[in-house]
Amino acid sequence: MRIALLTTGGTIAMRASDKGGNLGAPPPFVEMLARVLPEARITLIPVLSRPSAGFSIADIAAIAKAAEDAAASHDGVVITHGTDVLEETAFALELLTRTDTPIVVTGAMRLANQPSADGDANLIAACRVAGSAAARGKGVLVVFDDEIHWAPLARKRHAFRTHAFSSEPFGPLGWVVEGRVRFMLRPEQRLPRLSWGGRETVVPILEAGPGLEPQLVKNFPKCDALVLALPGAGHVADTVPAILEAMPMPVIFASRTGAGETLTHSYGYAGGEMDLIARGLIPAGPLDARHARIALAILLSNGAAKKDIAAFFGDL
Ligand code: ASP
Repeated sequence: MRIALLTTGGTIAMRASDKGGNLGAPPPFVEMLARVLPEARITLIPVLSRPSAGFSIADIAAIAKAAEDAAASHDGVVITHGTDVLEETAFALELLTRTDTPIVVTGAMRLANQPSADGDANLIAACRVAGSAAARGKGVLVVFDDEIHWAPLARKRHAFRTHAFSSEPFGPLGWVVEGRVRFMLRPEQRLPRLSWGGRETVVPILEAGPGLEPQLVKNFPKCDALVLALPGAGHVADTVPAILEAMPMPVIFASRTGAGETLTHSYGYAGGEMDLIARGLIPAGPLDARHARIALAILLSNGAAKKDIAAFFGDL
């Protein structure tokens, strides 16, 4: 099997020192894989070498381009990535790439020279999945701690333990055990294909809760679009809808619960989702605020207008 191994940095490529974990010389991934998976022919493609929290959307788009290019000439693509924003990159890859070749993202929670470091095991499992016929056509996958997650469902749910990723409330598509790749589920749908237009924009997330200050919303800094993470299925205090309606940029609201989707015609009170939609706000549907923000940044990179944004979220 021909595997393209794209490296981008992150803990999987870091070593502990008396100054804390940091990136240094590239880790010997190819030599390790040659020992454990002699059947794999690995092409190493360094893309970035940074902690992931500092990635821009343009960086993520560059990873997507490198992955799609590599997919054309390999059986599978594996991307090593910092775990901090791995879920955003994996989601963006699902939007920005279209290929039956498996694209698998992985990383590590422990530094390479720490006891029981998990990086090698995750990388080996990711290569097995990327090279398996069963993974073809299933979209972008996240392989972590022997589980296989569909990228749009995978989220980092723990700050330090090795079982850091989860697809709750659904669950992983499958797992890797005794070197075997087993899928139990497959994604029912693919997300719409988007392209990166090159324009970088400012798309913040504002999470609302009890006591949200109308003054803060009123004085919110200028940006290209605003994503609201709202309680429940998309509800906010009755003091802010008129302020939100007057904002000059597109305002998208997502549920802050992390599951389900925004409602559209259940609650009609001031600040309920029906009120927000009537005032021109756009419900994010099944996307959470983080994913909505990534989709918006990609849409806006091509100069999408509010109607294009509404059409994208309306079609999900
Ligand atoms: N700081 C790391 C990163 O690049 C954390 C990790 O990889 O787990 O995201």
